[in-house]
Amino acid sequence: RPRVGILALQGDVREHARVLTELGADVDLVRRPAELAAVDGLVIPGGESSVIDKLSRAFGMRDPIRAAIAGGMPMYGTCAGLILLAERITDGIEGQQTFGGLDVTVRRNAFGSQVDSFETDLDIPVLGEPPVHAVFIRAPLVEDVGAGVEPLAALSDGRVVAVRSGALLGTSFHPEVMGEHRFHGLLLDAVRNA
Ligand code: GLN
Repeated sequence: RPRVGILALQGDVREHARVLTELGADVDLVRRPAELAAVDGLVIPGGESSVIDKLSRAFGMRDPIRAAIAGGMPMYGTCAGLILLAERITDGIEGQQTFGGLDVTVRRNAFGSQVDSFETDLDIPVLGEPPVHAVFIRAPLVEDVGAGVEPLAALSDGRVVAVRSGALLGTSFHPEVMGEHRFHGLLLDAVRNA
């Protein structure tokens, strides 16, 4: 069984744990470097990216996570987790850092002033049918996609909301809150192939 960690410093850890458990993974909550070393893949949940950033530094997790990314550990970030996997962000708070790994620029709270939250159905070719019912909660947007990065999903106006690059996967939205299992399935595939 794949052993997958969830970075459990802040955010919607429980929803991810339920999806991964339903998919048959062994799930560990990860707050310490030794806990990260024991897993084969990592979910970075939704929540507040600036808080997860600060706590990851306070818990001595920033460098181990960056090393795991560099070493090819499969990871999946939703919303705040996508922000944390981005090499570059816009509209971060003062001093906000990311782990990096995805060669993208992500705009935090990109839908902020008009609509804080919305839901829409997305056709996602790598997942096939049915479309994903995507929930966006103060969501970020992928504004710039580097050469090695595969856009997996876009809104009807073409703006990118899901990407994959090597063993890293990120979505602006929250499949875990809808019981949508297919993105976590991609993460488990990457863990099995790693
Ligand atoms: N706006 C949050 C942030 O900047 C992300 C929101 C979410 O994860 N649903 O981290």
